[in-house]
Amino acid sequence: MINSSIFGIAPPKLAYETIDEESPKSVQASPKEKITLFIEEAMEKASDALIKTGTPVRAGQKLTVYPGSKAYAVSPVSGEVESITPFTGIMEKQKTALTIRIGEVQDDGGDADPFEEVAKSPSMQVLLDYLATVPGKPDFSRLADDAEPIKTLLILGADSDLLTVTNQFVIKTAGDAIKNGVNALQKATSKRNINFLMAVPNHLIQVSGTAGVSAKGVSSVFPMAHPEMIALSVVGAEPAGKKDSVVFLSAEAVASIGRAFKDGRIPGDKQITFVGKDGSKKLVTAPVGTHVKDILEKVGATVKDGDRIIFGGPMTGVSIYSIDHPVEPDTDAIILQDKSQIVPSEDLACINCGQCVRVCPTHVPVNELVRYLDAGEYEQAAERAELDACIECGYCTYVCESRIPIFQHIRLAKYALERIKAAEENNA
Ligand code: SF4
Ligand code: SF4
Repeated sequence: MINSSIFGIAPPKLAYETIDEESPKSVQASPKEKITLFIEEAMEKASDALIKTGTPVRAGQKLTVYPGSKAYAVSPVSGEVESITPFTGIMEKQKTALTIRIGEVQDDGGDADPFEEVAKSPSMQVLLDYLATVPGKPDFSRLADDAEPIKTLLILGADSDLLTVTNQFVIKTAGDAIKNGVNALQKATSKRNINFLMAVPNHLIQVSGTAGVSAKGVSSVFPMAHPEMIALSVVGAEPAGKKDSVVFLSAEAVASIGRAFKDGRIPGDKQITFVGKDGSKKLVTAPVGTHVKDILEKVGATVKDGDRIIFGGPMTGVSIYSIDHPVEPDTDAIILQDKSQIVPSEDLACINCGQCVRVCPTHVPVNELVRYLDAGEYEQAAERAELDACIECGYCTYVCESRIPIFQHIRLAKYALERIKAAEENNA
């Protein structure tokens, strides 16, 4: 990570990446032998699972692990289940990993794809039951809850992290699909009075007209395209816990919903911005579940010992530890860093330079916050140093003179507090 702040000098202004080509192109990557899908449910007893090694899978099939489970994945390929194993994600999130070996599946003359029938009438139930894991990963939880006071559905056509152009690509190339998605979402939420708006980088305002939704321009200065900063600038909704009236869906998620209802088939192709070791960018399209090694091969990139692969942008992405790690429905960017480019975190003592405070978009007293976080005093961090006001943009970590991984400490603190709260509710 580049670090250029010094005492008394204004922190660097960072600009988002833009797509300037008239008709940008994306290369199609295909999984070679297998894919892996994560189902967001802990794997319990394997003997109770509906899916076993050898279970045949069809492209477009919805897969649930246990009878009655709400969590599911949709396979973009046909084949058979090679393995079903527990997986621990970020912040100890427990999932089930399903690896599918790609191959022909014999037609047993069974039922037609159930989505094809329900796709004729868009509804919130259809969205929840079939489209929660489409590329872009729409979160329908608040939209589906009639008690939520939602006034605006904000479609994010700007990318919230640096170097990433995934949603801009969708805005440029999938206006009709977004329009279909908006129509489906309007039908599914017709009983509620929700205003649909789209936020796009200023240079894409004209292009976004094809989507049929009123579009607002977003500043190209980081972190103004962070969803909560967009909500503040576009609809005046306060960030950090006071944004109750706004729901966000990415442009890619809305386009995926539009394609699903138009074609009667659940789409599986994820759009990704790939950034190579030399900083060059390529747009790649790959089915959800494609192992990262298949993408690296497609773009001609090689990984050596000590190199780093990051899923997500440079400010908020996370390292992954295997080239067999799969693309997920919300993997907007993959960054490959050479070993020599990696600036390690050092976690030195805070020298109170104040750069983190200067860049924080929500005015968190970050220099105070790090002291509570360092001492593991998470409740005090929330009560006295506005932990909850942090929108997790990562800017403070970027400018920190002591290379303190502040953003990671913040995430850990929020996770720890969530666990404490959940434990208290369970014991109440
Ligand atoms: S990550 Fe850092 S700079 Fe960004 S909102 Fe949180 S405290 Fe502020
Ligand atoms: S945490 Fe301390 S050292 Fe790091 S940027 Fe903030 S004030 Fe400076």
